Amino acid sequence: MSSLDITFLGTSAAMPSANRFLSSIVINRNGTLFIFDAGEGMQYNFIRARFGFNKKILLFITHMHSDHILGLLGFFQTLSLQGRYMPIDIYGPKLIYDFLTENFRILNINLSFPVNIHVISDNEGILVTTKEYKITYCRSNHGYGICSYAYCLIENSRPGKFDIKKAKELGIPEGILYHMLQKGESIQFNNKLIPSNTVVGPLRSGRKIGISGDTRPSNELCNFFKNCDLLIFESTFGSTELDKAKESFHSTAFEAASLAKSSGVYRLCLTHFSTRYKDLVVLLNEAKSVFSNVDMAFDLKSISIPYRN
Ligand SMILES: [Zn+2]
Repeated sequence: MSSLDITFLGTSAAMPSANRFLSSIVINRNGTLFIFDAGEGMQYNFIRARFGFNKKILLFITHMHSDHILGLLGFFQTLSLQGRYMPIDIYGPKLIYDFLTENFRILNINLSFPVNIHVISDNEGILVTTKEYKITYCRSNHGYGICSYAYCLIENSRPGKFDIKKAKELGIPEGILYHMLQKGESIQFNNKLIPSNTVVGPLRSGRKIGISGDTRPSNELCNFFKNCDLLIFESTFGSTELDKAKESFHSTAFEAASLAKSSGVYRLCLTHFSTRYKDLVVLLNEAKSVFSNVDMAFDLKSISIPYRN
C-alpha cells in the first residue's frame, strides 16, 4: 500500500490573483515528490504545505512559458539555503537547459545540491521507470513553435488478492509457500502441484495520474490519459471564450470534461483558471454538463487517491 496525494501549489493562469499563485502541482507518493511546473511564487505554498526541504524530488516542466517556470530559481535557492543535499532531476523541453544554466551563471547561483537536467525531444515516451511506477510523457498542443508536454504517473500492477481461507482449506502452511504463491509461483505441496492462481486473484492495476499542462484537447491526449484515476486538466476559459481558447491554444472547462469522458478517466480536477473569472461556478457547471465526477482546484487543495480495486 502506497500513499498517493496531490497538492496544488498554484492554480492561476498567466498572472496570479489575490488567492491563487501560478501553475505548480505536487504528487507526493510515499514521500517522493513529483512536481509539475514551478510558476512564480510556488515556493510559498511549498513551504506552507510543509513538504520539507530534503525529500526526493523529480521536477517536470510542461513548457517554457513564464507562468510555469519562473518559480524555479527562487525554489532552488530556498532549498539550497535550507541545506538541501539530495539531487534534483528536472525534465522538460530543450530550453529548460538554457534557462537554468544561463540563470545560474548570470545570478552566480551555486546550489548546495546537484541539479540534473534531462531534455525531452521525442513526441512520446517514458522518462522514469522504477519497480513501482513510471513517468510517461506525450507532446501536447500549445501552439506553433511551442514545445509542450503532458505527463502521467503510472503505478505498476499490484499482485492479486491472496485468498487465505482457500489456502488454509488446502492445508498450506503459512510462510515461504504463501510467499511463493503471492509472487505468482506454483508450489509442490503434499505431492500436488498448486498453481498460484488457485489462491491468488488476478493482478490489480495501479493508479494513474495525468497532468495536461497548457494545451488544446487532442486525440493523442485522449489516448494518453486513458483510464486515469485522476486527470488534472487545464481549463483556462469558459465556453463563451472558446475563440480565445483556440487562439491561445488553451482549453475550456467543457472541452476538458469532454476529453475526460472520452478517455474513460475516473475523476477530473480542473485548474489553470483565467483571472477574468471571479466565480468559477460557471466553468464547473459547464464541465458537469458532460462529466459529473469533476471538481475545481484551488491553492493548497489536497486530494488523496485511493486504489480502486
Ligand atoms: Zn502556456
